[in-house]
Amino acid sequence: MSESPPPAAPAREEPGRTTIARELGGNLPCARCRYNLKGLSIRAVCPECGLPVRATVLAVVDPKAHELRPVRYPWVVAAGIICWSFGALGAAIWTWVFSIVELTGASRPLGWVTLGPVLLAGVSGLGAMVLIRPHAGGVSTPGSRAAMLGVLAYIPLLAVLYYIHTIVDPVGIVAYGPKASSDAGRLLSRLFAALCIAAITLALRPNARMLAARSFLMRSGRTDRQTLRALASVLILCVLGDSLRLGAMQLEGGAAQLADQVAQLLVLLGSVLLTGGLVGVCSDCARLVGVIVEPPLSVLDVLGTVEPQRGAKES
Ligand SMILES: [Zn+2]
Repeated sequence: MSESPPPAAPAREEPGRTTIARELGGNLPCARCRYNLKGLSIRAVCPECGLPVRATVLAVVDPKAHELRPVRYPWVVAAGIICWSFGALGAAIWTWVFSIVELTGASRPLGWVTLGPVLLAGVSGLGAMVLIRPHAGGVSTPGSRAAMLGVLAYIPLLAVLYYIHTIVDPVGIVAYGPKASSDAGRLLSRLFAALCIAAITLALRPNARMLAARSFLMRSGRTDRQTLRALASVLILCVLGDSLRLGAMQLEGGAAQLADQVAQLLVLLGSVLLTGGLVGVCSDCARLVGVIVEPPLSVLDVLGTVEPQRGAKES
């Protein structure tokens, strides 16, 4: 995905050709002072601040803008990725609140509150549906099929979260605490949930990255942080921790206590990193909204004319 940075200068130097004297046909705010440069020559300078028009063009134009496939329903896709990312983060934070309440020794909240993580994970799953086919056209790509599986994987995840939060936990089983408080059913459920989340993350990743490629910055690798892959790897810590706790339940004595405490540390670390990773995904998605709703400017948009030698390209 990390391709070499595209050639910097979309405006070509061809003496005598129309390109040079071309006036800016579209709205183009100056990169420094936001003055609208529309109607000026590409060789001119900004009348307000003196910045060369060409500098603004280079700053705002995405050389690949005209090759990006159009998004069919930009606002739906934008809302979808926001629900997808922030729903997941919300579910994680809600779960943290439960753990913190337990650690303080207060009694666990009951009723509809216990459904919070399940509902927010559901919001995330609904939002993820936009990743199945974010672009126009009905072509079924491998990325679309993977995203479909990713969305379907939300169903077992919601079921197991429902089981943990409304059936297991309200009867007094706590996430962190002495070994005697651990419960095999809960640990197995957590293992299953971690596997679901990993499957969802990896299955949605191809199309999420394709969508992120709409951002010039993300495509050129300058802000690419491999957020989703990191998220999936962090889950390994949680799986290790829960497995170790399960193993410790079969043992007796000091070794078992130690193993259980190490396991809890692993789970805690994994959960912290997972939450941090979700913050990263939310931040990436929030940044993408602008790119999706307002597509990047191409040279054609700025100049307001059609360049014949590039227009024939079919995607
Ligand atoms: Zn200016």
